[in-house]
Amino acid sequence: MSDLTHFLNGEMTAGTSGRFTDIFNPATGEVQYRAPLASASETDKAIADAAAAQPQWAAMNPQRRARVMMAMVGLINRDMDKLAEALSREHGKTLPDAKGDLQRGLEVIEFCIGAPHLLKGEYSDSVGPGIDLYSMRQPLGVVAAIMPFNFPAMMPLWHVGPALVCGNAVVLKPSERDPSVPLMLAELFVEAGLPKGCFQVVNGDKEAVDTLLDSEIIQGVSFVGSTPIAQYIYSRATASGKRAQCFGGAKNHLIVMPDADMDQAADALVGSGYGAAGERCMAVSVAVPVGEETADRLIEKLIPRIEKLKVGPYTAGNDVDFGPVVTKAAKDRILGLINRGVEEGAELVVDNRDFKLQGYEDGFFVGPHLFDRVTPDMDIYKEEIFGPVLSTVRAGSYEEALSLAFDHEYGNGTAIFTRDGDAARDFASRINIGMVGINVPIPVPLAYHTFGGWKKSMFGDLNQHGPDSFRFYTRTKTVTARWPSGIKEGGEFNFKAMD
Ligand code: NAD
Repeated sequence: MSDLTHFLNGEMTAGTSGRFTDIFNPATGEVQYRAPLASASETDKAIADAAAAQPQWAAMNPQRRARVMMAMVGLINRDMDKLAEALSREHGKTLPDAKGDLQRGLEVIEFCIGAPHLLKGEYSDSVGPGIDLYSMRQPLGVVAAIMPFNFPAMMPLWHVGPALVCGNAVVLKPSERDPSVPLMLAELFVEAGLPKGCFQVVNGDKEAVDTLLDSEIIQGVSFVGSTPIAQYIYSRATASGKRAQCFGGAKNHLIVMPDADMDQAADALVGSGYGAAGERCMAVSVAVPVGEETADRLIEKLIPRIEKLKVGPYTAGNDVDFGPVVTKAAKDRILGLINRGVEEGAELVVDNRDFKLQGYEDGFFVGPHLFDRVTPDMDIYKEEIFGPVLSTVRAGSYEEALSLAFDHEYGNGTAIFTRDGDAARDFASRINIGMVGINVPIPVPLAYHTFGGWKKSMFGDLNQHGPDSFRFYTRTKTVTARWPSGIKEGGEFNFKAMD
């Protein structure tokens, strides 16, 4: 297959830097093709062209911009199978998971159809003699979106949709691991009626990212990825006066109270801990059963469920539970952390360190693992593993369970499984974490609410999608207007009085 390209000014455009990165099929370990890595000058040109295209797009009324989103919904649905296949082939996730990735992105595009309503301003009539006061939301101009590998459709759509419909142009820097779907989506936006140049896809690495961060044209930066990079992007983008929202890593705890339905809790932990090979920022990676007896019952329910999980390539059909992890480096890192957990004294009660899939020996597969008796001082508890590994930390009481999640440096998502409404309510109210589930393991809010963590899972103050995204991608302008009606004499305007 030939090399991938950038998507610039409405066309797939070959890179000119001479630098490339290999794109793997994680199931086979083979290089499929290469993607170009943009130079600083290629990135600057993409930004400048976006700036030239943006005013025409911003001048279209919001209803017309919303119609592009409406058309986009139809086009994503039309190409769903093709997009899902390309996504699985580069990311490794199963086809149903790839369709879920697209579906959750699509829901934000559907939300964007409401832009005319969401962009309405505020109006105060007669705040003084003949004086009215109103505010309006205007686009920022050109914004950048720097995205992670784990949701190559959903993450770009969550940012590109709201940014565009607010009247901005966007330069997207997708992950260099799986850039095909973002390129395909950019092509679909043009087919949906988006003027060329308003959505630029620049493939690249640090050179392209730093150029975006330092550009005087770029007004806003949305980043999703690991916490150290989120911190770096936030400080560099804000240092040059840009607004920035940077979403980082996670270590999501699921608390299992003694009164929980243990089958339901075990099913939830298996689905949320191992789905997509644990490569989700909302994956549950820590189970916290309250009390020794709860812990024993939970582990007993978890082991047979985990042993039944089927790991395989996306081509093996719908009964595969999860696929490979994204790269060989990710696989080695995950196995390294599992070994560290054993050295640290945690009990590896489901051990698949020698997992091999026949016919796919070079693929990046990692079997499911379960740790018991993990303690907060261990690296496997502190670090985000981002693989099919669930750690169990036994808590002596509800307060201890709450403190564990409260004290962890990450604050993306959490959940409690219980039949006790008081405990659930107390937990939701006191926990310092952005998204909370009550008997729901992955509490991902729908498109018309906002998505975002607290603590080291988020830098900035406005969340992804929902009303916050419209706030992030617009600036408010407030106008105080005085018209001569306050200086009427005898029913006629007295224009002289205005001099
Ligand atoms: P990553 O931080 O390695 O990469 C994210 C993006 O940053 C990529 O586009 C990459 O090219 C760029 N990048 C990487 N290193 C850089 C550097 N030194 N300078 C400039 N740019 C750089 O993250 P990833 O491995 O692609 O994604 C997984 C991470 O994303 C996990 O930590 C996961 O929890 C997190 N994530 C968070 C959310 C959320 O909403 N909080 C959602 C999805 C994923």
